[in-house]
Amino acid sequence: MAASRTLIKNGTIISVDPKIGQLDSGDVLIEDGKIVAIAPNLEADNAEIIDASGAIVMPGFVDSHRHLWQAVVRHIGSNWTHGQYLMGVHLGLSGDFRPEDTYNGNLLGGLEALDSGITTLLDWSHNIDTPQHADAAVEALQSTGMRSVFAHGGGATMWNLPSNVPHTRDVLRIRDQYFSSNDQLSTMAFALRGPQFSTPEVAAADWKLIQELDTRVTVHNGDGEWGKQRPVAWMRDHGMLNDRVTHVHCCTLADDELKMIADSGGTASVSVDVEAQMGMGVPATGRLLDAGVRPSLSIDVCVSNGGDMFNAMKSTIALQRLLDSEAEAVPGEQEAVRLRCMDVIEFATIEGARALGLDHITGSLTPGKDADIIIVRADGLAMTPLNNPSGALVYSGHPGLVDTVLVRGKTVKREGKLLRGDLDDVKRRAIASRDYLFRAALDRPSIADARLGGSWTPGIHKVSRETV
Ligand SMILES: [Zn+2]
Repeated sequence: MAASRTLIKNGTIISVDPKIGQLDSGDVLIEDGKIVAIAPNLEADNAEIIDASGAIVMPGFVDSHRHLWQAVVRHIGSNWTHGQYLMGVHLGLSGDFRPEDTYNGNLLGGLEALDSGITTLLDWSHNIDTPQHADAAVEALQSTGMRSVFAHGGGATMWNLPSNVPHTRDVLRIRDQYFSSNDQLSTMAFALRGPQFSTPEVAAADWKLIQELDTRVTVHNGDGEWGKQRPVAWMRDHGMLNDRVTHVHCCTLADDELKMIADSGGTASVSVDVEAQMGMGVPATGRLLDAGVRPSLSIDVCVSNGGDMFNAMKSTIALQRLLDSEAEAVPGEQEAVRLRCMDVIEFATIEGARALGLDHITGSLTPGKDADIIIVRADGLAMTPLNNPSGALVYSGHPGLVDTVLVRGKTVKREGKLLRGDLDDVKRRAIASRDYLFRAALDRPSIADARLGGSWTPGIHKVSRETV
């Protein structure tokens, strides 16, 4: 059978591949879902042509940590603290999610991400109290058509902190049923509570289960007060650090713990918007770089902040540049900025892929990798003339400019529209779930005052370990 070919023509290419770099005008040839060539003036017989004139062609973004189920209650906590979020959502509205609400949240959140140019996402799924919730979460994620990692994080019974309930063994069934091979578009990881959120005995038991499951691990370490109790040192002392572990947040970890992550070959995920809002500590981007870890970026909690990587790149670079200039002997007179626009583009692409163990497959435009590609319009009033593509992308990019999205060579968005006909239904279902959850809240004394419109502020759940 003849190969299926797509040729993307005349785009400004930000490859994120160090050997290829940036091309002012170039083409990308895709064959059977894989990138086979990147150069100016490529020719190919029988190829579908995508004209990328006036646009930036780059790898799709990778979000290395997001609690996707929360999409149906997005933005209700945009004015909340960490303690209010724990009370209102994590230990509040979460309790009434039915499997269909989990499905609706994952589908909405996944499609929103794809629409904004995120081609790969790790769903840090920690509201799956029953096997049916897990089935719903996986099925919705897989139906989005994006590349995904389903990170199984259990449900409310496991998140009574600090938890003495071992991780459910249903995780083994999920693996056998949905993730039998490692070359699927959708793969699996283990979302570990770890020493911050479970007792030492449970953390050790969960680690044993991970060996049985044989997946990568993602764990929150160093967010807020909990993170000051040296969770990474504890993991090292118990043989739990290796290159298959991604450490989420890292804000309040000690410098020597960041070095332990580097020495183990581990990866990191930074979620600047949530960390700043919820008081999790100063985002660790710069300290991670000092320790030798190039972080990935993540969205984390859509209950508070938006779900696209343009915003994450902007927040990350703005905050780190502020910290760097303030650290100078004479702030404002440093000789050069440390963090360049290409750095945060790499964090949002190849470093995300690395954090998911997928950097040999995605995260850059490299011949041999899968064609996970986005085309971002750069011919509007805000980017013309296109004098510095990476600067324009980071400082003037937004989801509305994402014209085309390909996942493994398949076009899933074209001319600004996702190519699926059920988007109105996806939105209707999400609203129905939201309505159900707010009705159900009336029967929960701790959140009986829940209401929409932005004025609801839940009571505070104390977040220091001594008080829970
Ligand atoms: Zn998180």
